[in-house]
Amino acid sequence: MIAENSSGSTAIVWFRKDLRLMDNPSLHAAVSGGYRILPVFIWNPEEGGQWSPGAASRWWIHHALESLGSDIRKLGGELILAKGKAGELIPQIAKDHGAERVFYGRTYDPPGLSTQEKVEDALDRAGIDAESFNASLLQEPWETKNGSGNPFQVFTPYWRKSRPIIYRQPVDYDPTRLCFHSSPTPKLSLDDLNLLPAHGWHQKLEDHWTVSESAAHAQLERTVNEVTHSYSTRRNNPSVDGTSRLSPYLAWGLISPRQICQSVLQADNQGSHRGENKFLVEIGWREFSYHLLYHYPSIPDQPLRPKYAAFPWLDDQTNLERWQLGNTGYPMVDAGMRQLYETGWMHNRVRMVVASFLVKHLLISWTEGARWFWDTLVDADLASNTQGWQWAAGCGADAAPYFRIFNPITQGEKFDARGAYAKRWIPPLENLPSKYVFKPWEAPASMLEENGVDLGGNYPEPCINHSEGRARALAALATLKTA
Ligand SMILES: Cc1cc2nc3c(=O)[nH]c(=O)nc-3n(C[C@H](O)[C@H](O)[C@H](O)COP(=O)(O)OP(=O)(O)OC[C@H]3O[C@@H](n4cnc5c(N)ncnc54)[C@H](O)[C@@H]3O)c2cc1C
Repeated sequence: MIAENSSGSTAIVWFRKDLRLMDNPSLHAAVSGGYRILPVFIWNPEEGGQWSPGAASRWWIHHALESLGSDIRKLGGELILAKGKAGELIPQIAKDHGAERVFYGRTYDPPGLSTQEKVEDALDRAGIDAESFNASLLQEPWETKNGSGNPFQVFTPYWRKSRPIIYRQPVDYDPTRLCFHSSPTPKLSLDDLNLLPAHGWHQKLEDHWTVSESAAHAQLERTVNEVTHSYSTRRNNPSVDGTSRLSPYLAWGLISPRQICQSVLQADNQGSHRGENKFLVEIGWREFSYHLLYHYPSIPDQPLRPKYAAFPWLDDQTNLERWQLGNTGYPMVDAGMRQLYETGWMHNRVRMVVASFLVKHLLISWTEGARWFWDTLVDADLASNTQGWQWAAGCGADAAPYFRIFNPITQGEKFDARGAYAKRWIPPLENLPSKYVFKPWEAPASMLEENGVDLGGNYPEPCINHSEGRARALAALATLKTA
């Protein structure tokens, strides 16, 4: 029930990783309490240290704020933007506008937790009530424990116990009836936040993404109509649009996991598909990543399995750069890295292949890979990125054992059988028969020439021989075992 109280007192809704108007528990609390809403977003480039949002995320946040600001303006409000420490700014804004309460969505990464603690303390000292909500996950990361009362480190039992959370409902209110504090003059414009990176790399992202809450819902509609029913068979094929691409919208809360689960479950209830299980398990992996990050907050920088701290990684800038720019000479790896650099996103199967190649064939630390992903992914998320990299490096919870080394040639042949994905991102390979797409160095010289492939010219030779890379990785692992 929405209380319409035009003479009511004011409450700040502090937006964080919940940049949306629907299913937002802070807005729901404000509306239910009859408050006039003062919407606020604070950008603190120092929060997070080396895990402060990277270039692609900043591009995403800029556009998400632009869209949220415009949605709020249509309803008669004005999103207040501020830059600096939330612990100082929130009480000040509350004082300036006579706000009596603050509602906000919790975040669960270590920097976010520390910020909200400071805000709570400062508000407490100022005598202003604050209330926080879970706005970005299906359950609190601490909610589910194993039989001994400890955090889970294996996904399957975690999900077996947690799975009923998929039925949790979004909060119900009519966003068009939100009542905003009479338009305060914003002190800072969006451009004043300086979110857009100085170099123009991010401009190409505009061809690939529409950043708004309504675009997130259009993507969800596509997901339930076209993706989930064939998800279990198509999700591993990077040449088709077989996954939801909801990850960046989830990362900044333009849509909530509750909204996604409800839509998928409703579509399944109509009996039209059976995609529910496999797709919702992936939402479960996102929850599990937060469970791990919350309980083991050092994992963005340290392996969960301590013995891997002594792994003999190489400091190899040349190969690191080849990998970053998609010039390793292995088409499945290079296609993925080029897709990432071009679109800010990479297919999950290919993320696994490129990550394995970096940490095994190139023996470069997973933290280097995690940092590059952090800067270039529009869906960069500290929990999922850490979990993905530690999984690939064999040093995390429920991780692939390090000795299981993906073959970048057969991974391509298996999951991109006709080479359509590789050819899309590596144009010089466009005309090469599929038999050779993932190992162009085996093609006869005349065939390469006929098809315009110049190895070492328009496409590189492999930067390392597969068998040698594999053997070197296993030897490195052996030093760890004997240490
Ligand atoms: C090395 C590595 C790094 C990764 N870094 C990130 C990251 O920074 N941010 C991120 O959101 N995901 C990350 N992932 C997980 C996964 O690759 C992406 O979530 C997925 O590719 C996003 O595409 P989608 O939305 O189409 O996914 P879908 O297949 O449609 O899945 C639906 C949703 O489930 C969640 N999900 C799917 N797979 C995973 C997974 N393995 N772990 C956690 N959540 C998952 C995502 O929120 C996703 O949007 C990483 C995986 C690896 C191997």
